[in-house]
Amino acid sequence: MLHRAGYDDVTVFERGERIGGVWHHNTYPGAACDVPSHLYEFSFAPNPKWSRRYATQPEIQAYVEEVARRYGVLDRVRTSTEVLSASWDDARSRWLIKTSTGDHQADVLISACGQLSVPKLPKIRGMTTFEGPAFHTAEWRHDVDLSGKRVAVIGTGCSAIQVVPAIQPIADRVTVYQRSPAWTIPRMDFAYSARTRRAFARLPALRRLDRAATFGFLEFCALALTTRPWLRPTFRAVARRQITKAISDPELRRKVTPVDEVGCKRVMPTDTWYPTLTRPNVELITDPITEITAHGIRSQDGAKEDGAERAFDVIIFATGFKAHDFVAPMKIAGEGGRTLAEVWGSKPGAYLGMSVPGFPNMFLLYGPNTGGGAGSVIYTIEAAVSHVIAALDALDRADAQRIEIRQQVADVFDAELRAALAGTVWHTGCTNWYVDDNGHDPNQWPWTFTAYRRRTARIDPTAYEMRSHQNLPGVA
Ligand code: NAP
Repeated sequence: MLHRAGYDDVTVFERGERIGGVWHHNTYPGAACDVPSHLYEFSFAPNPKWSRRYATQPEIQAYVEEVARRYGVLDRVRTSTEVLSASWDDARSRWLIKTSTGDHQADVLISACGQLSVPKLPKIRGMTTFEGPAFHTAEWRHDVDLSGKRVAVIGTGCSAIQVVPAIQPIADRVTVYQRSPAWTIPRMDFAYSARTRRAFARLPALRRLDRAATFGFLEFCALALTTRPWLRPTFRAVARRQITKAISDPELRRKVTPVDEVGCKRVMPTDTWYPTLTRPNVELITDPITEITAHGIRSQDGAKEDGAERAFDVIIFATGFKAHDFVAPMKIAGEGGRTLAEVWGSKPGAYLGMSVPGFPNMFLLYGPNTGGGAGSVIYTIEAAVSHVIAALDALDRADAQRIEIRQQVADVFDAELRAALAGTVWHTGCTNWYVDDNGHDPNQWPWTFTAYRRRTARIDPTAYEMRSHQNLPGVA
């Protein structure tokens, strides 16, 4: 998008050895997107060849790499290069960037490191004492053969509900530790026949129709989660029906039925989760974990004073990501040397998720409060990039060198956002990865995706301060 807009001098730093981000790192069995593929693709690079409605990880990774190759992006990417820090040089209006392979300077800094890139391990007593393999879903150990093994999976979020059905047929036993359940809805996944794919290729309108229908449905979901609570009972009825249809055991039904409002935790599209929990080699434990031991996991069990210890060969942590740390572990210092971590404290926030006062010429993609409980992050990121381009164009037109969001504009936006968030389902009292222990939500966007696109489509020149600097010393 930058290239098409005429911004050619772009360098991309990528910590991984390949591009792809979460799709490169999350290679666990069963990994697939939970947004239908015709929406989870770039609008400028439609793919009529998706093999199924919800593409799997290898197919998405191949798509990302193919698009990057086709558009000449790969030539600009420095892989295996971690950005360690970036500091704003006020005198020269430049970002000085330190990476693991050397220093770099740039007029504009765009962070595109996502919200779900740093795995989160739980704080459980004895975490390091287990003697067998223990790993996070995002750091899958493909060298560990699970066939015939006793496997523990901790967590029942989006990653777990994909991993467990995928490993259940090969493992001897799968024991799932659930802290609190989330609601699910039918996934309605299916393979596209060769004929359908040919039709998508020949009739772009058909693919666009599929994309529009998916977008419309997810916007409907977004309304239910945010401003139209009266839509939620329909989703709850569908979710309840999924449990009763798949599970006949009343005790198991009770265990998997959430007490909180539908959508407070992310609603998970799946057709395999509940049927897998009923398999003879799968057990769902809802007693809290008290300790990880050398050979297994101990959990609270009312019947036994020192709890119940179960022995395992492998422990898998499906315990999510450090979603509140944003740019961490990078250290980004703006005007006056103040770092983003210092400015944010425990409350990350940014104007439209992108701009922070005191950090000129810096934009965050998929930054604070740009996530939705339903929808495609690709759509959000494209909207954000359009905004960045509009800002760069405005800077160019003004013949200025630095652009910075005004503090007052950022404050007004933040107040509006926080007020709207308070009325959303995410703040109805469950635990989810969006809201922290103090009730601050740095992740969610409290309106529709259409609203995000609308608000980011243009820049309001009065919202930003643009300045040119005199006496610019020669910069190499
Ligand atoms: P998650 O939704 O944050 O789930 C983490 C799970 O671990 C929760 O069930 C949590 O329980 C549990 N947990 C954490 N600490 C625990 C402890 N000490 N003891 C027991 N359980 C513990 O993480 P995720 O499944 O990796 O998904 C994160 C997000 O990534 C998703 O919401 C989604 O946006 C994205 N994602 C997408 C896909 C996809 O597209 N298919 C797949 C995976 C992930 P509590 O709920 O009680 O905290």
